[in-house]
Amino acid sequence: MAKEPRLIVVSNRLPVEIERTQGGFTYHPAAGGVATSLQSVRKQREMLWLGWPGTPVWDDKDRRSIERHLVKEYDSVPLFLPPSDFDLYYEGFSNGTIWPLFHYFPQNAHYEAREWNAYKEINALFRDKILEFAQPGDLLWIHDYHLMMLPALVREALPEAKIGFFLHIPFPSSELFRMLPWREEILQGLLGSDLIGFHSHGYARHFLSSLLRLLGLEQEFGRVIVGDRAVRVDTFPIGVDVNGFESAMQTEAVRKELAELQEETQDRKIVLTVDRLDFTKGIVERLESFDHFLAENPDWHRRVTLISLTVPSRTGVPEYQALKKEVDEAVGRINGRHGKPGWVPIWYMYRFLPFDRLVALYGAADVALVTPLRDGMNLVAKEYLAAHPDGTGVLILSETAGAAEELGEALIVNPHDTEQISEALLHALTMSESEQVARNSPMLARLRRYDVVRWAEDFLGGLEPEIAPAKQQVQVRLDKAGINLLLQAYRSAKQRLLLLDYDGTMVPFASRPKEAAPDEELITLLTRLAEDKKNTVVIISGRDRETLQDWLGGIGASLVAEHGAQIRRAADTKWSVQTTEAADGWKSELRPLLELYVDRTPGSMLEEKTASMAWHYRRAEPELGDLRAKQLMENLEGVIANTPLVIMQGSKVVEVKESGIGKGRAARRWLDSDTIYDFILATGDDVTDEEMFEVMPDGAWSIRIGVDRRSAAKYSVRGTSAFRRLLHSLGDR
Ligand code: UDP
Repeated sequence: MAKEPRLIVVSNRLPVEIERTQGGFTYHPAAGGVATSLQSVRKQREMLWLGWPGTPVWDDKDRRSIERHLVKEYDSVPLFLPPSDFDLYYEGFSNGTIWPLFHYFPQNAHYEAREWNAYKEINALFRDKILEFAQPGDLLWIHDYHLMMLPALVREALPEAKIGFFLHIPFPSSELFRMLPWREEILQGLLGSDLIGFHSHGYARHFLSSLLRLLGLEQEFGRVIVGDRAVRVDTFPIGVDVNGFESAMQTEAVRKELAELQEETQDRKIVLTVDRLDFTKGIVERLESFDHFLAENPDWHRRVTLISLTVPSRTGVPEYQALKKEVDEAVGRINGRHGKPGWVPIWYMYRFLPFDRLVALYGAADVALVTPLRDGMNLVAKEYLAAHPDGTGVLILSETAGAAEELGEALIVNPHDTEQISEALLHALTMSESEQVARNSPMLARLRRYDVVRWAEDFLGGLEPEIAPAKQQVQVRLDKAGINLLLQAYRSAKQRLLLLDYDGTMVPFASRPKEAAPDEELITLLTRLAEDKKNTVVIISGRDRETLQDWLGGIGASLVAEHGAQIRRAADTKWSVQTTEAADGWKSELRPLLELYVDRTPGSMLEEKTASMAWHYRRAEPELGDLRAKQLMENLEGVIANTPLVIMQGSKVVEVKESGIGKGRAARRWLDSDTIYDFILATGDDVTDEEMFEVMPDGAWSIRIGVDRRSAAKYSVRGTSAFRRLLHSLGDR
C-alpha cells in the first residue's frame, strides 16, 4: 500500500445504499460530492469510511453479515445506531436545531435539552467506533454538522491524533450562532480538530469571530491557540468532477435523453431549477419570480418553459409536507394563470433523477436558475457550468449560496428580490452567445483547476504538514528534560545574562497597559535573581521609561525601555537616550494620521515614546481593531517610504519607530561587552522580540512564550505561568 498515512473518513451516513432482498442484501455505492471526491483519494492511500448504514433495523446476524461485507468490499465500517436516540439526534438536534439556525432560519429552530443530550450520546458512539479501528498515525477526517462534538471527544481519548473537520453547511454570523444554548460546547467540540474547513471565507470568518466573542480566543492568520495546540481554520470550496460531466455529455445515453428533451420542448428556451425540497432553497420565492416574469413579459409566453426538478427530502416531517403543499399550489396557480393550449409554463418533477437524466437536463437548459435563500455551497450551480464545456448557457445565482464567492461572473441576485430575478431572467434569455462564453469561461477555468479531487487533496495537505518533522522555524517545546538541561547549564555557569521581556512573558496582558503592574512575587523573584553576583539581569521591554522605572526601578536589574531607545544600566541612576534622529520632526508629521485612527476606532489610543509612536487597540472591538490595524499599516507604509522609520506590529499594537532602534541592537550592548557570558537566556513573546532572538549566539537559550508560532527562538514554553515557574527554578538555585 502507499506510504501515505491511512485516512479514516467519518460521516453520519456511509456512502453505500443497502437493500434487503430475498437472498440477503444488495449494495449500491451512493454518489455525491464527497463520496466522488474521495474515490480518487482511495487510489493514493489506504482509506476506511465509518458511518451509519441506513434506516432499517437489522438483527445481530444481519449486522454481522453487513459489517463483514462492507469492510471487505467497501473499506467501510457501519455504525448501527440505536433508533430511539437516532431520531432525537438526527431529526431533532441536527435537522431541527442546527440546520435551520445555521441557514439563517432561527424561527424554525427549536432547542430541546433531550435532543442535545442524544446528539452528544451519538457523537460518543462514533468516538467509540473510531477507537476500535484507529491506529497511531491515521488521519481522521470528520464531516459535517451531525458530528460537531466528535473532534473533542476523539482528542480527549487520543491526544496525539490528527483530526480534520469539515462543515458542509454555512457557519452563521456570531449574532445568530450565539442563540444556541450550547454554543460554547459546540465550539469546544470543533476545537478538538487540528484543521477546520469551510466552503467559503465568510463562514470561516464567522466561526473565528464566534471563537473570539464567545470563548475570547484570538486568531493569527487563521490559527487559534487552544491550550498547547494550534487549530487551523481555512477555506476549501468543494468542486465538482468537471471531467466526469464533460465526458458524460458525450455518452450515448445522455445524447439520447438530450435529443428527446429537445424534441419535446421544440424551440422553446429552457430554464432549469434543481433542488432538494427544503425551506432553505427558496423554491416558492423563485416560482413567484417566474410568475412575475411571465406577467411582465407576455411576449415570452409559449417561448420559455421552466423545468423544476424537486427532489423529495425528509418526507416524514410535517414542515416539509407543508412546504410540498405550498410548492404544488404555487405551480398549479402559475400554470393556471399563464398556461395556454399547447404550452405549460412550468414542468414540475417531484422525484430523484439518476445521473444520466440529470446531466441531459443540464445540457438542455439555456438558463439555470439557482436561487437558494441560503446554501452552504450549492453544487447544482457548478454542475450546470461543467455540463456546458463550450461555455454556453447562463447561470443565475443567489448571492447567499456559498458558490457565489467563486462564481462572480454569473448573474448574481438577491433571492428575495422578485423584481431583480425577473430582470435577470430577461437578461439571461436574451444574452448573446459571446457574452455567455465570456462570462462562463473564467468560471469554467477555475472549476477545472480546483475540482473535487484537488479539494480533497488540498484539505488533507493542510492536515498533514503538522506531522512532518519539525521545521526550522518551529521551536522545541521545553519539556521536563529540556528544563533540567537548562538548569544544569545555569548552575554550572560563571557569568549569566538574562534578557527578559516583560509583557506577555513575565505577566499576562491586561486590557489597559497600566494594569499589568508586577505583583509582589515577581518583584521578589527578580530581585533575588539580580542580587546573584553571577547574574546580569536585563528587563528588555517596549514600555516607556517612567513605567519601567516606577515598577522595576528597585530590583537591581538593567532596564531597556521603548525597545532599546532608552537604557538604564543597573549600576547607573540615569537613563541614556539612544535615538538616532531628531524625533520631533517625523512625530509631528505622523501624529495627525495616527490620531485619525484613534478617532475611527473606539477604544484605541496613541502612545508617544522617545523614539516611537504606538497605536494600541487591545480595548477596541476586536474585528474592527484588526481591520483598522491593517489599514493603518498600509497607510503608514506609503507615508514612511524613504525615511529611517519602520513599522512594527506587536500584540494589539502598531508602532512606528526609528529603524536603528530595536531589541536586537539593545541586546548587543551586553553580548558585545567585555564580559564573557557562559549562560545566556533570552525570552519574549512577540515580533519585537524576534530581533533579539536573531542576534543570539549559538548555545544561547532563546525561548518564545506561546507555542506553535514561527520564531527565531530555539525553544518555546506554553505561557507566562509556565515561564514564571522556570524563573522560580532559577531563583531557587
Ligand atoms: N442530484 C441528483 N439527482 C437529482 C437531483 C439532484 O443526483 O435528481 C444531485 C446533484 O447532482 C447535486 C446534489 O444532488 O450533486 C445536490 O447538491 P447541492 O449542493 O446543490 O444541494 P444539497 O442537496 O446538498 O443541499
